[in-house]
Amino acid sequence: MSTDSNTFLARSRFFPETIQPKQSFQLRNGTTVETCCPGVITFAPASIQSTKSIVLSSGVHGNETAPIEICEALVEALLQEKIKTQHRVMFIFGNLPAINSGERFVEENLNRLFNASLSIDNQEQVRAQELKREVHRFFENDSTHPSSHSDSKRIHYDLHTAIRESKNQKFVVYPYLHGHEYNKQQLRFLSACAVNTILLSQSPTSTFSYYTSRNYNAHSFTIELGKVKPFGQNDMASFSKVIEMLTQLITQQEPILPPLDECPLDVFDVKQVIDKHTADFKLHFADNIPNFTGFQKGSLLATDGDKEYRALEDDEAIVFPNANVALGQRALLTVVRCEI
Ligand SMILES: [Zn+2]
Repeated sequence: MSTDSNTFLARSRFFPETIQPKQSFQLRNGTTVETCCPGVITFAPASIQSTKSIVLSSGVHGNETAPIEICEALVEALLQEKIKTQHRVMFIFGNLPAINSGERFVEENLNRLFNASLSIDNQEQVRAQELKREVHRFFENDSTHPSSHSDSKRIHYDLHTAIRESKNQKFVVYPYLHGHEYNKQQLRFLSACAVNTILLSQSPTSTFSYYTSRNYNAHSFTIELGKVKPFGQNDMASFSKVIEMLTQLITQQEPILPPLDECPLDVFDVKQVIDKHTADFKLHFADNIPNFTGFQKGSLLATDGDKEYRALEDDEAIVFPNANVALGQRALLTVVRCEI
């Protein structure tokens, strides 16, 4: 986190009234900048030939600091003209009050609110509507208008860090594509970011990345970059490849990518989505076991009142276990290895 109190993110967090909504200005290098609202800023190159529209979101969970630090550094480098974008790019710092309090969320998990619901009963619900409006404005104003998912030049990387240790430190959730083909170019890009574990979601969800994939034909991913640490305690060296590739993505027409057969990808299908339905929900493994720990067929994973959840296959692995979620929300995913 920059200690400068005058960065776009610092002003958004502490002096949101100084961010003029929808105000644009031009940098000396011709880039058009628009401050859309607190925590949302776009950059567009002078050339109308820009081919990609890229959304980079961070801080959708307020305590996931490393992606916020990475994106803040990119925003400031663009504003100070240390780097120059070749594409339309939107940065979103998702949950500003939660970032300020160092918590995952204030009242409700923002990353469960990107569905059709229009309720605005708390600040996260209000923010989800605002972010959906801004993303809509951004994608609808691009010149690419993909007619199909496969030829889309729209990209959305929603950057997170996980609550627990993971055997596979960096991994992505590939939102359910409703039968569209997985994009090989995107897998090569992720591998170049040192993200080689791919989770294929098999159903619609209310996450931000599913929302942009489904509604705007964007190549969207929830990207987990490691374990949550407080601001300033992140080992930025472990993010060097992600930082390098995001910089290339923005500043080059095309980033330099490894061939697919050289990418050491590890692909998993989601096997079970286990929601919490009663206050008695319990996980039946140690609190601190890492994500992607495998279980043998028949192992008891969780109980929810009278209901038992067991591994259905050998080597079925657990991801995102969290017994403390609200009733009705996902408390555990299980995954099994597959080919893409
Ligand atoms: Zn997160």
